[in-house]
Amino acid sequence: MYQVKFYKGDYYARQAAANEDQCKLYIEQHFNSSASQSANYSVVVTGYNASQTSKNWGRWYARAVSQEFDIPVGGESGLLVGGYNGRGDYNLRFTNMPAILLEPFFVSNPQTAELIKTEAAQYRLASILTESIQRFLPDGGLVGFSVGHKYKTSSPNDRGAAVFGGGTEADIAEAVLLKAQQQLETVGAVPQEREIKVMQGNEVLWKGNIDFDADVRWDGQRGVLTVS
Ligand SMILES: [Zn+2]
Repeated sequence: MYQVKFYKGDYYARQAAANEDQCKLYIEQHFNSSASQSANYSVVVTGYNASQTSKNWGRWYARAVSQEFDIPVGGESGLLVGGYNGRGDYNLRFTNMPAILLEPFFVSNPQTAELIKTEAAQYRLASILTESIQRFLPDGGLVGFSVGHKYKTSSPNDRGAAVFGGGTEADIAEAVLLKAQQQLETVGAVPQEREIKVMQGNEVLWKGNIDFDADVRWDGQRGVLTVS
């Protein structure tokens, strides 16, 4: 029920092509970088002209990354509207559909750089994107992916920031998006139930449906998860 298409070329051309194809959602994957190795947060950029859906979707994603990997959110509750003083805005502003630019980790940070080079972490990050798409586009449809920096006509050798210890931002971004594509194209119908899961790494140990109105509380001291 989901189809994924990768858009290449300069950023305007990618967005124009996604509009032409009537994509339902548009995602550009990046990773952050800073001169300070300690910089560490998850943030999503939207255009200045973003819809409320884009903003809600971006916040959902940034917060999910923060929870999953135990890192803070940046921006305003995980969101940078218009990007970094306008940088990032141009990557999304021409889209006709909800669109977000992902900056889940700093590749300049030695810990997160090492983490994101692993297949397991790339898979977990892709899963968060997949789940966010299921939430914000439950009926399925065409989803546009854009690998940040790579495949630009005007600057074909750009690969974005250097990853601490080796590698490039764009190559890791592409690896994550390819995993998300595989997940999205094999995922079945979005459950109409409210599903909860118990995870160990990438493995689902248990899942079940609970009442939409149920309150879920985790008591770490007693080790009890209560659904009431
Ligand atoms: Zn970038």
